[in-house]
Amino acid sequence: MRCPYCENIDTKVVDSRPTDEGKAIRRRRLCEECGKRFTTYEKLEENIIMVIKKNGQRESFDRNKILNGIVKACEKRPVPMATIEGIVDNIERGLNNMMEKEVESTFIGELIMDELKKVDDVAYVRFASVYREFKDADTFIKELEKLLKRDAK
Ligand SMILES: [Zn+2]
Repeated sequence: MRCPYCENIDTKVVDSRPTDEGKAIRRRRLCEECGKRFTTYEKLEENIIMVIKKNGQRESFDRNKILNGIVKACEKRPVPMATIEGIVDNIERGLNNMMEKEVESTFIGELIMDELKKVDDVAYVRFASVYREFKDADTFIKELEKLLKRDAK
């Protein structure tokens, strides 16, 4: 952090304490060049992601919604809650890293399916059938066949 007085870049943190209920950190810095002190605030960037639904409507990204969808797909399956939480964490982190302000809901759906595929076949097919709105048994069976082919490899 550059000193606001002399523009020297070597400044030392002499004190730091959480503020704003731990959401920010206040740092007292000392310039090693001119000896002046100044304060900086470090704050977590709250990246709000809007999800574009199939009908074009936007709604803010809702972690719980994704969690609930996955929990439902994993009902009575041997998938630990920690695994489900991990999937949601991965997806949330992935979206944040993309630095996009808007993502298509279909994209999030694909991410969830990719993750579920790795964890539990039944949960995956359940989620996919709801998500892709399988119109008929044929599409459903095709999806199952894809899975079986993969397992046969
Ligand atoms: Zn200075």
